[in-house]
Amino acid sequence: MKDEIDAFLETVNGDPRRIRTLIKFLVGFKIITDNEVDRLLLKPLDDQYNQSSPSRNREESLWGLSYLISQLGKEAAILYMEDIVPTILSALVDVNSDLQCNACQTLVLTVEVMRDDFIGAYFVPAFKCLCSIYEHPMDDVLQEHVCELDEFLKRIIFEIDHFRLDVEGFIQQFISHLNNPCPRARNFLLKWINFLWCDEMLHFLPEFLDGFFNMSIVPPLFPAEHDTTSTILFEESRYRIQRLLSRFRQTVTTKTNQYIFDVGKILSIVTRQLNHNYTRVEALNWMSMMINKYPCEVLRCPEFKICLDASLPEAHYLEGVRIASRGTDFKDARTHLYKALNHVKESTLAIAMLTIFLGEKELTDFFSSMLYTQPWEEVVTTWDSLRATSILVRTLEPNPHSTTLVFEMPGCAQMHKIESKCKDCYVYLCSKEFCSLFSSSV
Ligand SMILES: [Zn+2]
Repeated sequence: MKDEIDAFLETVNGDPRRIRTLIKFLVGFKIITDNEVDRLLLKPLDDQYNQSSPSRNREESLWGLSYLISQLGKEAAILYMEDIVPTILSALVDVNSDLQCNACQTLVLTVEVMRDDFIGAYFVPAFKCLCSIYEHPMDDVLQEHVCELDEFLKRIIFEIDHFRLDVEGFIQQFISHLNNPCPRARNFLLKWINFLWCDEMLHFLPEFLDGFFNMSIVPPLFPAEHDTTSTILFEESRYRIQRLLSRFRQTVTTKTNQYIFDVGKILSIVTRQLNHNYTRVEALNWMSMMINKYPCEVLRCPEFKICLDASLPEAHYLEGVRIASRGTDFKDARTHLYKALNHVKESTLAIAMLTIFLGEKELTDFFSSMLYTQPWEEVVTTWDSLRATSILVRTLEPNPHSTTLVFEMPGCAQMHKIESKCKDCYVYLCSKEFCSLFSSSV
Protein backbone atom coordinates (compact mmCIF):
# COMPACT_ATOMS: atom_id res chain seq x y z
CA MET A 1 0.00 0.00 0.00
CA LYS A 2 2.83 2.41 0.92
CA ASP A 3 4.41 2.00 -2.49
CA GLU A 4 1.10 2.70 -4.09
CA ILE A 5 0.65 5.84 -2.04
CA ASP A 6 4.18 6.98 -2.91
CA ALA A 7 3.47 6.42 -6.55
CA PHE A 8 0.22 8.30 -6.26
CA LEU A 9 1.88 11.23 -4.53
CA GLU A 10 4.41 11.43 -7.34
CA THR A 11 1.68 11.57 -9.91
CA VAL A 12 -0.36 14.18 -8.06
CA ASN A 13 2.83 16.26 -7.98
CA GLY A 14 1.63 18.60 -5.29
CA ASP A 15 -1.76 19.26 -6.82
CA PRO A 16 -3.74 20.21 -3.73
CA ARG A 17 -7.07 19.03 -5.06
CA ARG A 18 -5.73 15.58 -5.71
CA ILE A 19 -3.95 15.50 -2.37
CA ARG A 20 -7.23 16.37 -0.73
CA THR A 21 -8.93 13.51 -2.50
CA LEU A 22 -6.18 11.24 -1.32
CA ILE A 23 -6.39 12.44 2.30
CA LYS A 24 -10.13 12.03 2.29
CA PHE A 25 -9.86 8.54 0.98
CA LEU A 26 -6.96 7.37 3.14
CA VAL A 27 -7.94 8.89 6.45
CA GLY A 28 -11.66 8.45 6.01
CA PHE A 29 -11.22 4.74 5.45
CA LYS A 30 -8.39 4.41 7.96
CA ILE A 31 -6.06 3.01 5.32
CA ILE A 32 -3.09 4.86 6.72
CA THR A 33 -1.97 5.05 10.32
CA ASP A 34 -1.16 8.20 12.24
CA ASN A 35 2.58 7.66 11.74
CA GLU A 36 2.20 7.64 8.01
CA VAL A 37 0.17 10.83 7.84
CA ASP A 38 3.23 12.90 8.54
CA ARG A 39 5.54 11.34 6.00
CA LEU A 40 3.01 10.84 3.31
CA LEU A 41 0.69 13.78 3.62
CA LEU A 42 1.74 16.57 5.91
CA LYS A 43 5.22 16.88 4.54
CA PRO A 44 4.21 17.09 0.86
CA LEU A 45 1.54 19.64 1.81
CA ASP A 46 3.97 21.63 3.87
CA ASP A 47 6.64 21.48 1.18
CA GLN A 48 4.14 22.56 -1.36
CA TYR A 49 3.08 25.46 0.81
CA ASN A 50 6.64 26.60 1.33
CA GLN A 51 7.64 26.25 -2.30
CA SER A 52 4.58 27.56 -4.08
CA SER A 53 4.95 30.99 -5.44
CA PRO A 54 1.50 31.59 -6.92
CA SER A 55 -0.61 32.57 -3.95
CA ARG A 56 -3.49 30.50 -5.24
CA ASN A 57 -1.50 27.30 -4.74
CA ARG A 58 -0.51 28.32 -1.25
CA GLU A 59 -4.12 28.98 -0.39
CA GLU A 60 -5.02 25.57 -1.69
CA SER A 61 -2.27 24.02 0.41
CA LEU A 62 -3.62 25.72 3.49
CA TRP A 63 -7.03 24.43 2.61
CA GLY A 64 -5.48 20.96 2.34
CA LEU A 65 -4.01 21.32 5.79
CA SER A 66 -7.32 22.37 7.28
CA TYR A 67 -9.04 19.53 5.53
CA LEU A 68 -6.47 17.12 6.92
CA ILE A 69 -7.02 18.48 10.44
CA SER A 70 -10.75 18.04 10.18
CA GLN A 71 -10.30 14.50 8.91
CA LEU A 72 -7.76 13.54 11.55
CA GLY A 73 -9.93 14.52 14.50
CA LYS A 74 -8.66 15.99 17.75
CA GLU A 75 -6.35 13.28 19.06
CA ALA A 76 -4.45 12.66 15.84
CA ALA A 77 -4.39 16.37 14.91
CA ILE A 78 -2.73 17.22 18.22
CA LEU A 79 0.05 14.78 17.42
CA TYR A 80 0.87 16.92 14.37
CA MET A 81 0.18 20.25 16.02
CA GLU A 82 3.82 21.36 15.85
CA ASP A 83 3.89 20.69 12.10
CA ILE A 84 0.53 22.18 11.28
CA VAL A 85 0.15 25.35 13.38
CA PRO A 86 3.40 27.25 12.53
CA THR A 87 2.57 26.94 8.82
CA ILE A 88 -0.84 28.48 9.38
CA LEU A 89 0.53 31.22 11.63
CA SER A 90 3.15 32.20 9.07
CA ALA A 91 0.40 32.51 6.45
CA LEU A 92 -1.55 34.68 8.89
CA VAL A 93 1.14 37.36 8.76
CA ASP A 94 1.88 37.02 5.03
CA VAL A 95 1.91 40.10 2.82
CA ASN A 96 -0.85 38.63 0.68
CA SER A 97 -4.21 39.49 2.22
CA ASP A 98 -6.06 36.67 0.40
CA LEU A 99 -3.69 34.19 1.98
CA GLN A 100 -4.17 35.88 5.35
CA CYS A 101 -7.95 35.51 5.01
CA ASN A 102 -7.47 31.87 4.18
CA ALA A 103 -5.18 31.41 7.17
CA CYS A 104 -7.81 32.97 9.44
CA GLN A 105 -10.35 30.42 8.28
CA THR A 106 -7.88 27.55 8.60
CA LEU A 107 -6.93 28.67 12.08
CA VAL A 108 -10.58 28.85 13.15
CA LEU A 109 -10.99 25.26 12.05
CA THR A 110 -7.74 24.22 13.75
CA VAL A 111 -8.77 25.86 17.02
CA GLU A 112 -12.16 24.24 16.79
CA VAL A 113 -10.58 20.79 16.46
CA MET A 114 -7.67 21.18 18.89
CA ARG A 115 -9.46 23.48 21.38
CA ASP A 116 -7.73 23.55 24.81
CA ASP A 117 -4.54 21.98 23.44
CA PHE A 118 -4.22 24.74 20.86
CA ILE A 119 -4.99 27.50 23.34
CA GLY A 120 -2.53 26.07 25.86
CA ALA A 121 0.34 25.79 23.40
CA TYR A 122 -0.31 28.48 20.79
CA PHE A 123 -2.43 31.23 22.26
CA VAL A 124 0.44 33.70 22.72
CA PRO A 125 1.98 33.07 19.24
CA ALA A 126 -1.49 33.46 17.71
CA PHE A 127 -2.07 36.68 19.69
CA LYS A 128 1.33 37.91 18.51
CA CYS A 129 0.25 37.34 14.89
CA LEU A 130 -3.02 39.20 15.47
CA CYS A 131 -1.13 42.14 17.00
CA SER A 132 1.18 42.12 14.01
CA ILE A 133 -1.76 42.16 11.56
CA TYR A 134 -3.15 45.21 13.34
CA GLU A 135 0.13 47.03 12.85
CA HIS A 136 -0.66 47.41 9.16
CA PRO A 137 -3.69 48.76 7.34
CA MET A 138 -6.29 46.11 6.54
CA ASP A 139 -8.88 45.89 3.80
CA ASP A 140 -12.49 45.25 4.80
CA VAL A 141 -12.45 41.58 3.83
CA LEU A 142 -9.36 40.79 5.87
CA GLN A 143 -10.71 42.80 8.75
CA GLU A 144 -13.85 40.72 8.74
CA HIS A 145 -11.84 37.48 8.81
CA VAL A 146 -9.53 38.72 11.56
CA CYS A 147 -12.51 39.79 13.69
CA GLU A 148 -14.08 36.39 13.20
CA LEU A 149 -10.87 34.63 14.29
CA ASP A 150 -10.48 37.01 17.20
CA GLU A 151 -14.02 36.38 18.44
CA PHE A 152 -13.64 32.66 17.92
CA LEU A 153 -10.48 32.52 20.06
CA LYS A 154 -12.30 34.35 22.83
CA ARG A 155 -15.27 32.00 22.56
CA ILE A 156 -13.10 28.87 22.84
CA ILE A 157 -11.13 30.31 25.79
CA PHE A 158 -14.45 31.09 27.45
CA GLU A 159 -15.73 27.57 26.84
CA ILE A 160 -12.74 25.50 27.91
CA ASP A 161 -12.51 24.49 31.54
CA HIS A 162 -8.96 25.34 32.29
CA PHE A 163 -6.65 27.77 30.55
CA ARG A 164 -3.23 28.44 31.98
CA LEU A 165 -2.31 31.75 30.39
CA ASP A 166 1.35 32.57 29.82
CA VAL A 167 0.82 35.95 31.50
CA GLU A 168 4.35 37.20 30.91
CA GLY A 169 4.31 36.24 27.21
CA PHE A 170 0.92 37.84 26.72
CA ILE A 171 1.85 41.06 28.53
CA GLN A 172 5.10 41.35 26.57
CA GLN A 173 3.19 41.21 23.30
CA PHE A 174 0.53 43.51 24.66
CA ILE A 175 2.99 46.18 25.80
CA SER A 176 5.04 46.10 22.62
CA HIS A 177 1.93 47.12 20.65
CA LEU A 178 0.54 49.74 23.01
CA ASN A 179 1.90 52.61 20.94
CA ASN A 180 0.12 51.54 17.79
CA PRO A 181 -1.61 54.69 16.56
CA CYS A 182 -4.44 52.81 14.82
CA PRO A 183 -7.68 53.18 16.83
CA ARG A 184 -8.88 49.75 15.70
CA ALA A 185 -5.67 48.18 17.02
CA ARG A 186 -6.11 50.01 20.31
CA ASN A 187 -9.60 48.63 20.76
CA PHE A 188 -8.39 45.17 19.83
CA LEU A 189 -5.73 45.30 22.58
CA LEU A 190 -8.06 46.79 25.17
CA LYS A 191 -10.71 44.15 24.54
CA TRP A 192 -8.14 41.39 25.08
CA ILE A 193 -6.72 42.73 28.31
CA ASN A 194 -10.24 43.25 29.58
CA PHE A 195 -11.15 39.71 28.60
CA LEU A 196 -8.04 38.03 30.05
CA TRP A 197 -7.47 40.29 33.04
CA CYS A 198 -6.24 38.40 36.08
CA ASP A 199 -4.67 39.56 39.32
CA GLU A 200 -1.31 38.14 38.29
CA MET A 201 -1.08 40.93 35.69
CA LEU A 202 -0.79 43.47 38.50
CA HIS A 203 2.89 42.53 38.68
CA PHE A 204 3.29 44.24 35.31
CA LEU A 205 1.16 47.27 36.15
CA PRO A 206 3.96 49.86 35.87
CA GLU A 207 4.79 48.51 32.42
CA PHE A 208 1.38 49.07 30.88
CA LEU A 209 -0.06 51.87 33.01
CA ASP A 210 2.01 54.47 31.17
CA GLY A 211 0.84 53.14 27.80
CA PHE A 212 -2.80 53.28 28.87
CA PHE A 213 -2.61 56.85 30.04
CA ASN A 214 -0.79 57.92 26.89
CA MET A 215 -3.33 56.14 24.74
CA SER A 216 -6.13 58.21 26.20
CA ILE A 217 -4.28 61.48 25.59
CA VAL A 218 -2.55 61.06 22.26
CA PRO A 219 -5.09 60.88 19.47
CA PRO A 220 -4.44 58.26 16.82
CA LEU A 221 -3.08 59.28 13.46
CA PHE A 222 -6.23 59.73 11.51
CA PRO A 223 -6.03 58.55 7.93
CA ALA A 224 -8.05 61.57 6.87
CA GLU A 225 -8.83 64.83 8.56
CA HIS A 226 -12.55 64.17 8.86
CA ASP A 227 -12.52 60.43 9.35
CA THR A 228 -15.53 59.93 11.59
CA THR A 229 -14.98 56.18 11.98
CA SER A 230 -11.53 56.79 13.46
CA THR A 231 -12.89 59.48 15.74
CA ILE A 232 -15.63 57.18 17.01
CA LEU A 233 -13.11 54.36 17.52
CA PHE A 234 -10.78 56.71 19.35
CA GLU A 235 -13.55 57.84 21.70
CA GLU A 236 -14.52 54.20 22.18
CA SER A 237 -10.94 53.28 23.11
CA ARG A 238 -10.73 56.24 25.48
CA TYR A 239 -13.91 55.09 27.23
CA ARG A 240 -12.53 51.54 27.50
CA ILE A 241 -9.27 52.84 28.98
CA GLN A 242 -11.10 54.87 31.59
CA ARG A 243 -13.06 51.81 32.66
CA LEU A 244 -9.94 49.62 32.69
CA LEU A 245 -7.89 52.12 34.69
CA SER A 246 -10.68 52.35 37.22
CA ARG A 247 -10.93 48.55 37.33
CA PHE A 248 -7.16 48.16 37.91
CA ARG A 249 -7.32 50.79 40.64
CA GLN A 250 -10.16 48.97 42.37
CA THR A 251 -8.19 45.72 42.22
CA VAL A 252 -5.13 47.33 43.81
CA THR A 253 -7.36 48.92 46.47
CA THR A 254 -9.07 45.72 47.47
CA LYS A 255 -6.17 43.28 47.14
CA THR A 256 -3.84 42.59 50.00
CA ASN A 257 -0.22 43.65 49.82
CA GLN A 258 0.80 40.45 48.16
CA TYR A 259 0.87 42.21 44.78
CA ILE A 260 3.61 44.63 45.64
CA PHE A 261 5.02 46.45 42.67
CA ASP A 262 7.30 49.42 42.35
CA VAL A 263 5.22 52.10 44.11
CA GLY A 264 7.65 54.88 43.13
CA LYS A 265 7.39 53.93 39.47
CA ILE A 266 3.58 54.00 39.53
CA LEU A 267 3.55 57.30 41.37
CA SER A 268 5.95 58.81 38.87
CA ILE A 269 3.72 57.61 35.99
CA VAL A 270 0.47 58.94 37.44
CA THR A 271 1.88 62.28 38.58
CA ARG A 272 3.02 62.93 34.99
CA GLN A 273 -0.64 62.75 33.92
CA LEU A 274 -1.82 65.70 36.02
CA ASN A 275 -1.42 68.25 33.24
CA HIS A 276 -3.85 66.60 30.87
CA ASN A 277 -7.57 67.25 31.10
CA TYR A 278 -8.51 63.70 30.15
CA THR A 279 -6.26 61.98 32.67
CA ARG A 280 -6.12 64.43 35.58
CA VAL A 281 -9.06 63.03 37.56
CA GLU A 282 -7.96 59.43 37.14
CA ALA A 283 -4.36 60.35 38.04
CA LEU A 284 -5.57 62.05 41.24
CA ASN A 285 -7.62 58.95 42.10
CA TRP A 286 -4.52 56.79 41.64
CA MET A 287 -2.45 59.12 43.81
CA SER A 288 -5.06 59.05 46.62
CA MET A 289 -5.28 55.30 46.41
CA MET A 290 -1.49 54.88 46.52
CA ILE A 291 -1.23 57.15 49.58
CA ASN A 292 -3.94 55.20 51.39
CA LYS A 293 -2.54 51.84 50.44
CA TYR A 294 1.20 52.42 50.68
CA PRO A 295 1.73 55.53 52.89
CA CYS A 296 5.30 54.62 53.90
CA GLU A 297 6.45 53.96 50.34
CA VAL A 298 4.76 57.12 49.04
CA LEU A 299 6.31 59.30 51.76
CA ARG A 300 9.74 58.08 50.68
CA CYS A 301 9.13 59.07 47.03
CA PRO A 302 10.14 62.47 45.66
CA GLU A 303 6.71 62.58 43.96
CA PHE A 304 5.05 63.01 47.39
CA LYS A 305 5.68 66.74 47.00
CA ILE A 306 3.68 66.69 43.77
CA CYS A 307 0.81 65.07 45.71
CA LEU A 308 0.94 67.97 48.18
CA ASP A 309 1.11 70.55 45.39
CA ALA A 310 -1.91 68.91 43.78
CA SER A 311 -3.80 69.58 47.07
CA LEU A 312 -4.56 65.93 47.64
CA PRO A 313 -6.32 65.74 51.03
CA GLU A 314 -4.74 62.34 51.79
CA ALA A 315 -1.26 63.77 51.20
CA HIS A 316 -1.91 66.77 53.45
CA TYR A 317 -3.29 64.54 56.19
CA LEU A 318 -0.16 62.37 56.07
CA GLU A 319 2.13 65.39 56.05
CA GLY A 320 0.19 67.00 58.93
CA VAL A 321 0.48 63.88 61.08
CA ARG A 322 4.15 63.54 60.18
CA ILE A 323 4.93 67.09 61.31
CA ALA A 324 2.74 66.79 64.44
CA SER A 325 4.48 63.60 65.51
CA ARG A 326 7.77 65.49 65.61
CA GLY A 327 6.30 67.46 68.52
CA THR A 328 7.04 70.84 66.94
CA ASP A 329 5.54 73.14 64.30
CA PHE A 330 1.95 72.36 65.32
CA LYS A 331 0.65 75.34 63.36
CA ASP A 332 2.33 74.11 60.23
CA ALA A 333 0.90 70.64 60.86
CA ARG A 334 -2.55 72.17 61.29
CA THR A 335 -2.31 74.05 58.00
CA HIS A 336 -1.87 70.72 56.25
CA LEU A 337 -4.64 69.05 58.25
CA TYR A 338 -7.09 71.85 57.42
CA LYS A 339 -6.67 70.90 53.75
CA ALA A 340 -7.73 67.36 54.61
CA LEU A 341 -10.76 68.37 56.68
CA ASN A 342 -14.06 66.94 55.35
CA HIS A 343 -12.08 64.54 53.13
CA VAL A 344 -10.04 62.47 55.55
CA LYS A 345 -12.18 61.74 58.59
CA GLU A 346 -9.18 61.39 60.96
CA SER A 347 -8.17 65.01 60.35
CA THR A 348 -10.92 66.40 62.66
CA LEU A 349 -9.50 64.47 65.64
CA ALA A 350 -5.94 65.36 64.64
CA ILE A 351 -6.79 69.08 64.53
CA ALA A 352 -8.63 68.85 67.88
CA MET A 353 -5.47 67.35 69.40
CA LEU A 354 -3.25 70.06 67.89
CA THR A 355 -5.46 72.79 69.38
CA ILE A 356 -4.86 71.19 72.79
CA PHE A 357 -1.09 71.34 72.23
CA LEU A 358 -1.48 74.97 71.11
CA GLY A 359 -3.62 75.81 74.16
CA GLU A 360 -6.62 76.99 72.11
CA LYS A 361 -9.47 75.74 74.28
CA GLU A 362 -12.32 77.23 72.25
CA LEU A 363 -11.10 75.56 69.10
CA THR A 364 -10.59 72.30 70.98
CA ASP A 365 -14.25 72.41 72.03
CA PHE A 366 -15.31 73.24 68.48
CA PHE A 367 -13.40 70.40 66.81
CA SER A 368 -14.27 67.96 69.60
CA SER A 369 -17.97 68.61 69.09
CA MET A 370 -17.43 68.13 65.35
CA LEU A 371 -15.83 64.78 66.12
CA TYR A 372 -18.71 63.71 68.39
CA THR A 373 -21.29 64.20 65.65
CA GLN A 374 -20.22 60.70 64.63
CA PRO A 375 -21.28 57.59 66.54
CA TRP A 376 -18.76 56.44 69.19
CA GLU A 377 -17.89 53.41 67.12
CA GLU A 378 -16.62 55.73 64.38
CA VAL A 379 -14.75 57.95 66.84
CA VAL A 380 -12.91 54.93 68.25
CA THR A 381 -11.97 53.68 64.77
CA THR A 382 -10.77 57.18 63.89
CA TRP A 383 -8.41 57.26 66.87
CA ASP A 384 -7.10 53.75 66.10
CA SER A 385 -6.36 54.77 62.54
CA LEU A 386 -4.72 58.07 63.53
CA ARG A 387 -2.64 56.27 66.14
CA ALA A 388 -1.47 53.70 63.55
CA THR A 389 -0.60 56.43 61.01
CA SER A 390 1.34 58.38 63.64
CA ILE A 391 3.47 55.34 64.50
CA LEU A 392 3.98 54.64 60.82
CA VAL A 393 5.19 58.11 59.86
CA ARG A 394 7.34 58.26 62.94
CA THR A 395 9.27 55.18 61.82
CA LEU A 396 10.30 57.11 58.71
CA GLU A 397 11.90 59.95 60.67
CA PRO A 398 15.67 59.82 60.32
CA ASN A 399 16.31 61.24 63.80
CA PRO A 400 13.20 60.78 65.94
CA HIS A 401 13.26 62.62 69.23
CA SER A 402 11.01 62.38 72.24
CA THR A 403 8.05 64.71 72.61
CA THR A 404 7.40 66.10 76.03
CA LEU A 405 4.35 68.30 76.09
CA VAL A 406 2.58 69.76 79.06
CA PHE A 407 -1.08 70.71 78.73
CA GLU A 408 -4.00 71.13 81.08
CA MET A 409 -6.31 68.13 81.37
CA PRO A 410 -10.01 68.31 82.36
CA GLY A 411 -10.71 67.26 85.96
CA CYS A 412 -12.54 64.05 85.01
CA ALA A 413 -9.47 62.77 83.09
CA GLN A 414 -8.02 61.70 86.42
CA MET A 415 -10.52 58.91 86.77
CA HIS A 416 -11.36 58.27 83.09
CA LYS A 417 -9.56 56.24 80.50
CA ILE A 418 -9.84 56.41 76.70
CA GLU A 419 -12.18 53.42 76.89
CA SER A 420 -14.51 55.42 79.18
CA LYS A 421 -15.61 57.40 76.08
CA CYS A 422 -16.15 60.56 78.07
CA LYS A 423 -16.83 63.52 75.80
CA ASP A 424 -15.11 65.91 78.21
CA CYS A 425 -11.73 64.16 78.26
CA TYR A 426 -11.59 61.71 75.34
CA VAL A 427 -9.62 63.98 72.97
CA TYR A 428 -7.29 64.98 75.83
CA LEU A 429 -6.58 61.36 76.70
CA CYS A 430 -5.91 60.62 73.01
CA SER A 431 -3.50 63.57 72.93
CA LYS A 432 -1.72 62.26 76.01
CA GLU A 433 -1.28 58.88 74.42
CA PHE A 434 -0.17 60.52 71.16
CA CYS A 435 2.67 62.22 73.07
CA SER A 436 3.57 59.12 75.06
CA LEU A 437 3.86 57.13 71.79
CA PHE A 438 6.85 59.22 70.82
CA SER A 439 8.45 59.72 74.20
CA SER A 440 8.59 55.94 74.60
CA SER A 441 9.82 55.34 71.06
CA VAL A 442 13.26 56.77 71.81
ZN1 LIG B 1 -13.87 62.47 81.35
